[in-house]
Amino acid sequence: SGGNRMKVFNDRMRVAVQDRIAAEKLLREALDGDRRQTLPVWFQPIVSARTGEILGAETLVRMRTGDGRILGPGLFVPAAEETGLIVPLGEHVLIEALRHLVAWRDELRYISVNVSPRQLAEPDFVPLLAGLLAAAPELEPGRLVLEITETALLASTVDITERLETIKSLGVRIALDDFGTGYSSLTWLQSVPADIVKLDRSFVAGLATDAKKSSIIRAVLWLAQSMGMSAVAEGVEEASDVQALREVGCPLLQGYFFGKPMPPEQFAAGLQRSRMA
Ligand code: C2E
Ligand code: CA
Ligand code: CA
Repeated sequence: SGGNRMKVFNDRMRVAVQDRIAAEKLLREALDGDRRQTLPVWFQPIVSARTGEILGAETLVRMRTGDGRILGPGLFVPAAEETGLIVPLGEHVLIEALRHLVAWRDELRYISVNVSPRQLAEPDFVPLLAGLLAAAPELEPGRLVLEITETALLASTVDITERLETIKSLGVRIALDDFGTGYSSLTWLQSVPADIVKLDRSFVAGLATDAKKSSIIRAVLWLAQSMGMSAVAEGVEEASDVQALREVGCPLLQGYFFGKPMPPEQFAAGLQRSRMA
């Protein structure tokens, strides 16, 4: 049976490798194509817990394949990071996010963009960011938020804290993504110059009926507040989550309850409705 298990494992690995190679091939084709078509960016609303108004949006990339399917980032972002294709992909996402923020500047306060460790470590990243902001002088830089995960700290060979300080000196804000799921979240909080904490959805879903989750959320909110940071609860799916998050004073909410990631046209329509409400 040891031998059998080994064989199953090998088959699984082969499938994983084939998937990875297929993902890389699709990604190269998409990057060579009309990127607005092949790599559309979608937006998910981030709302005020108090008023329900849409204040921000998280940019989430998708891939449209030749046969018209839409693929989620879980299927190609890991391959992008491994191959370095995350650099051109990330540049495209940043350009698209800023283009939409310019279009929505009177209705939307901020837009956030996920930035992978590999992108952040790239020497050209800060010049790229500075160039894009200079090309959009009508936007205050603080209206762009970069979402970083803790793995950036662990995986990186460059001094990430220093890199983030440089980014902050441009006026861009930093959010700690998936907060609480890593191994050294408090170190992260201490060493990184962040503006926003994003509470991971594993602490958020079912919060109303789970005393431990509720304690963790309240403690993190208190920490964030006493460090002058804002907080977003991710993965808000149920009305009971909303109620519980309001009660503990979480300022910003994001999740399917308010809206799934959606194409820009649909997001713009929701933005109008949110403003009229
Ligand atoms: P993330 O940054 O944690 O993004 C949030 C993910 O949670 C999104 O999945 C979103 O659709 C999902 N989500 C939002 N609300 C809810 C909810 O109420 N319930 C549940 N169950 N899920 C919810 P998505 O779009 O599949 O993105 C997955 C991950 O891919 C992201 O996780 C992010 O790490 C990565 N990603 C997406 N776009 C980019 C990008 O442009 N660049 C980089 N580097 N990574 C990206
Ligand atoms: Ca994120
Ligand atoms: Ca997240």
